[in-house]
Amino acid sequence: MTATIIDGKAFAARVRAQVAGHVTRLKDDHGITPGLAVVLVGEDPASEVYVRSKGKMTVEVGMKSVEHKLEADTSEADLLALIDQLNNDPEIHGILVQLPLPKHLNEDLVINSIDPAKDVDGFHISNVGLLGTGQKSMVPCTPLGCLMMLRDHHGSISGMDAVVIGRSNIVGKPMAQLLLGDSCTVTIAHSRTKDLADVVRRADIVVAAVGRPEMVPGDWIKEGATVIDVGINRLDAPEKGAGKTRLVGDVDYESCAARAGAITPVPGGVGPMTIACLLANTVTACCRANGLDEPEGLTA
Ligand code: NDP
Repeated sequence: MTATIIDGKAFAARVRAQVAGHVTRLKDDHGITPGLAVVLVGEDPASEVYVRSKGKMTVEVGMKSVEHKLEADTSEADLLALIDQLNNDPEIHGILVQLPLPKHLNEDLVINSIDPAKDVDGFHISNVGLLGTGQKSMVPCTPLGCLMMLRDHHGSISGMDAVVIGRSNIVGKPMAQLLLGDSCTVTIAHSRTKDLADVVRRADIVVAAVGRPEMVPGDWIKEGATVIDVGINRLDAPEKGAGKTRLVGDVDYESCAARAGAITPVPGGVGPMTIACLLANTVTACCRANGLDEPEGLTA
């Protein structure tokens, strides 16, 4: 079998175009411009790259983008005061605090100080609880992007056997909740799972969110299964020249693609969908804040 490649880059461009259309309508019909504030504490180079590209894409879809760059030694009180200010700013509909935070800051306290209605990352404990109980919430961007791709590819995923490898709060657990919400039979695997190969072989849908390069070999994949590779791992690539690197996912792409019915590549799969879903969440939050109908197809 030759797998269909699920093109996350192209899909993300479609989602961003949809978001841009909603932003235009919000501006033209209601005089509202959705606003996203991103808070970065410290100078982590990878975080700076993410924040820059989030800001650029926010502006490209017509939304207001606000960036707050704080010194690495910013006190918790100062960070909480900024979040309070953003919570009360009517022009800001989404707030994202870039993680990880420097060690002296309590991540849970900071995330839970964001107004849940503006929590476009979906990490606030209220949103976690709402998602867990099947209620309307802000949904974490990466799993939301995975769900959108699965729905787009399959139409309905109801009744399918899904295995999520990884149980983190930002990917694995919310992914499992979303699959359950769409009536999959869900197994969550992790580092203590016995016979992971056997568990994965039963799955119609495999979502790998582990952080271990090319860990899932093709012979774990059931013929025709759909493989969603969340992993982003950077490996040395001396064949490309001295000091060069390449990105790989958590599944061994070549061997998995030989057995899967559909697969997301790395790069160009889940990654681009994450930022697109952040923009989608911001427009959703803006509509909810203003009592307007939510855009269809951009939420869980
Ligand atoms: P975490 O490190 O928080 O979680 C990893 C999970 O994998 C844990 O639950 C861990 O199990 C499990 N695990 C580790 N080793 C094994 C193993 N040998 N067998 C089975 N399970 C194992 O990672 P994240 O969830 O934050 O991220 C996962 C990957 O997704 C990373 O590569 C990350 O870079 C990527 N990512 C990509 C995003 C995107 O936009 N595409 C966004 C977010 C993350 P246990 O709990 O038992 O330790």
